[in-house]
Amino acid sequence: MDLNFWINIVYIIAATLFIFGLKMMSKPDSARQGNLISAIGMALAIGATLLSKGLTFEWIIAGGIVGTVLGIIFAYAVTMTQMPEMVALLNGFGGLASLLVAWSAYHFKPETDLFTTVATFLSVLIGGVTFTGSVVAWGKLNGVFPSKSILFQGQKLLNSGILLLLIVGGYFYCIHPAVNYPVFLGIIILSLLLGVTSVIPIGGADMPVVISLLNSYSGLAACASGFVILNNILIVAGTLVGASGVILTQIMCKAMNRSLANVLFSGFGSVQKKSKSEVKGEAKAISPEDAYLILEAARSVVITPGYGLAVAQAQHAVRELGEQLEKNGAEVRYAIHPVAGRMPGHMNVLLAEANVPYDQLFEMDSINPTMNSVDVCIVIGANDTVNPAALNDKTSPIYGMPIIETFKAKTVFVIKRSMASGFAGVENELFYYENTRMIFGDAKDVVQKLVAEFKAK
Ligand code: NDP
Repeated sequence: MDLNFWINIVYIIAATLFIFGLKMMSKPDSARQGNLISAIGMALAIGATLLSKGLTFEWIIAGGIVGTVLGIIFAYAVTMTQMPEMVALLNGFGGLASLLVAWSAYHFKPETDLFTTVATFLSVLIGGVTFTGSVVAWGKLNGVFPSKSILFQGQKLLNSGILLLLIVGGYFYCIHPAVNYPVFLGIIILSLLLGVTSVIPIGGADMPVVISLLNSYSGLAACASGFVILNNILIVAGTLVGASGVILTQIMCKAMNRSLANVLFSGFGSVQKKSKSEVKGEAKAISPEDAYLILEAARSVVITPGYGLAVAQAQHAVRELGEQLEKNGAEVRYAIHPVAGRMPGHMNVLLAEANVPYDQLFEMDSINPTMNSVDVCIVIGANDTVNPAALNDKTSPIYGMPIIETFKAKTVFVIKRSMASGFAGVENELFYYENTRMIFGDAKDVVQKLVAEFKAK
């Protein structure tokens, strides 16, 4: 049996490890091992590919060392809340790599069969859009570029024009690849431009959805470049990334009850949206000291975290509160909304960082049916994801979005600094409900005060 046979066997093992790794990443308690298993698969794939080509290794080893050192430094330096930026950059590099592979393959063999030419075109197009789109997404998230959506007249026309030029250019390139190098260069430039013009109209808060979409693009670009250089594992890995990115994008859109088109083209967040119905009544405030008296008697408590928990970095204090409540005899559960915070899995990551037991984290669909029997629900820095207007106000911009049904609990405490609205910019009628009490203040301060009350007991 020749070397090629064994290389393909290693590729099959690597692909299997990728699939198992991905599956394990969908649960917080197995995510770390999933990551490790996928990394082992990737190491096998890289090793087998290098052995298959009869290469000289000096440059490859040098590149490998530089890449590994940079990877380790970034992984340690980046904080959990900077993870979306990091993922954006990595997607961008993936797109750029696919573009460069296709470009160099063109130089190596400009005149080739139609299938490879089309794959080269797609690799450059998708890779280019992914690279600059991801750089803009990264800049919007870390404040290098303005995070609000940049809208101007004729924007959609401009994007459609660039796309049309790319399709026409792609056609001419594909029918005569060898003589049309200037067209090929034009395709590279226009793809890079399209990445910028298609991401600038999207508001910073929608970037997580865009990043997961760009993640999927980077997979598709890798898959196309796999066809260009005829590498099976690149095709498989690219397809897995492409498919998982699309699935994640769809989960996020569904959890926000918005279509992908709405995220990409509506400029959400650039204007304040209002529902037609006015919220009536008066919000009732309560001090942490009085809230403690109610919590002390509670037997079932649900903690519902949101974006404000991340802002206040209150996760460790929240874990302490959970422990105190348990010591006091209460059953404590955490209700996790799929789009609470500003990135997928934001709350899982924060709570895992603070060592909150995984078995206390409950997804929205499993905790909602039990809300009627909950004594106290503590909403910490969440707003849109607990707004009942999503269920009963047809004029609300968030109508139809599934929510954590905290209002069904006997008592609801909402910890936030003011009556300000959340990401969607709509008033929250939960704050005015009969069974709701507002505890105003920074999430970490308030939770620490509650913990201190328990400890002083
Ligand atoms: P929201 O963004 O709706 O609200 C967060 C609340 O936190 C604010 O009302 C704010 O009120 C409060 N807050 C901010 N800082 C603090 C602090 N230091 N202490 C206490 N409270 C604070 O949060 P949710 O998590 O409920 O909802 C997420 C929103 O983001 C949804 O609309 C979702 O669609 C959107 N989104 C989520 C994505 C994801 O992947 N997770 C991606 C894109 C969008 P105040 O200023 O009064 O304190």
